[in-house]
Amino acid sequence: MTLLRHTRGGEIAERHALTINPAKTCQPIGAMYAALGIHRCLPHSHGSQGCCSYHRSTLSRHYKEPVMAATSSFTEGSSVFGGQANLHQAISNIFTVYQPDVIAVHTTCLSETIGDDIPQIAEKAAELGLIPEGKYVIHANTPSYVGAAPTGFANMTSAMVKYFSESTSPTKTAGRVNVIPGWVEPADMREIKRIVAAMGLDLILLPDTSDVLDCPQTGIHEMFPKGGTTIDQLRATGDSCATIALGPVCSGPAAKELTAKCGVRHATLPLPIGLEATDQFILELRKHNGGYVPQEIADERGRLIDLITDMHQYFYHKTAALWGDPDQLVSLSQLLMTVDILPKYVVTGTPGKKFLKRMADVLEDRKTDVEVRQGPGADLFLLHQWIKNDPVDLLIGNTYGKYISRDDGIPLVRHGFPILDRVGHQYFPTVGYRGAIRLLEQILDVFLQRQDDDCPEEQFELTM
Ligand code: SF4
Repeated sequence: MTLLRHTRGGEIAERHALTINPAKTCQPIGAMYAALGIHRCLPHSHGSQGCCSYHRSTLSRHYKEPVMAATSSFTEGSSVFGGQANLHQAISNIFTVYQPDVIAVHTTCLSETIGDDIPQIAEKAAELGLIPEGKYVIHANTPSYVGAAPTGFANMTSAMVKYFSESTSPTKTAGRVNVIPGWVEPADMREIKRIVAAMGLDLILLPDTSDVLDCPQTGIHEMFPKGGTTIDQLRATGDSCATIALGPVCSGPAAKELTAKCGVRHATLPLPIGLEATDQFILELRKHNGGYVPQEIADERGRLIDLITDMHQYFYHKTAALWGDPDQLVSLSQLLMTVDILPKYVVTGTPGKKFLKRMADVLEDRKTDVEVRQGPGADLFLLHQWIKNDPVDLLIGNTYGKYISRDDGIPLVRHGFPILDRVGHQYFPTVGYRGAIRLLEQILDVFLQRQDDDCPEEQFELTM
């Protein structure tokens, strides 16, 4: 409740060694989410039980699905002498009891500080016969003190390429693209698959959490749901004709890795949230399908334009405050600029190159009217102080913004991760033209509800 009543405006002190209510989540959560997008994969947290419980429970609370993951369960002994024995025991137990095809190990702050060498430990496990034939142990280093959830997602996705991608021929498969979707909802992954299929292309989506974290209720618990990118698909990424990385922070590193390892050329685009970013995605896909855009996609774009025209009168001159992951923030800001809402305050605790430059490009001549911060001091406390000094009309971000919303009476549109206090968000995509329609409908809804709630009776209208 610290945010709710104790933030004051006035002069804002510069902080260098203190973060209050961070605008980021810890790095292994991103790695765990990415690993869940491999078919029959069990994520494994190499560290203490507390870290793993936190990561699992946060994912479970956001997706309202059971999230399976294992842990090396460090005790005082492993904290001093290293976690090799724990990881060997874990690998043996997991393959014996749960029988996944892949164990995806990510590190935590503790195992990184000790300096455990995961490839060496996995090699030793193979020598000891702990990894059955046809099964795999992959890894990503994810110390949270140098990254955040998006970098964890990026590191684990890069690991998929490092461990599995193969180039079997210098001639690449025409008409088949890899798409690295970034950390988006399972519904977004489903929507990306629909768009690429509508463009007439074959697709390998890596990772793919649809049908993993949005499973239908069947009454039967599946340890490994039917979704996820298969190992065969991961191998085949090296033979695709191109890779499209959606979001430079989450998806850029794996795309670069694939180019270096298998010679698959790549394009790194913004996350396709909003009109312009989706246009870029469609234009990139068009390079691989002979240059056409099907009527279905053109119609969706047309409907979005029509909706923007209808809604613009309500959006014009409004202001918003945003927090979250860099890839999301850049595309969201661009969407808001398109409809004449100024993203007045933008903060992210996630490190990543070029965020400030990307934001400046999106804001164009309004960049001097906008506060953008990144890094340890770019937290929700700072954001709230700015809002106290000069309020905005709208908040867009994860659940943690509800304290600011309640304290200052500003409507909140929940977006990003985690959303802990609502159900159903994971079923509605925000990518693509249809996703933008959904987002704009959510935004307009809170504006008009505010108008209904606050206006005098003589201005309370049935038709708006
Ligand atoms: S920040 Fe580090 S110690 Fe804390 S939960 Fe994440 S990995 Fe564990």
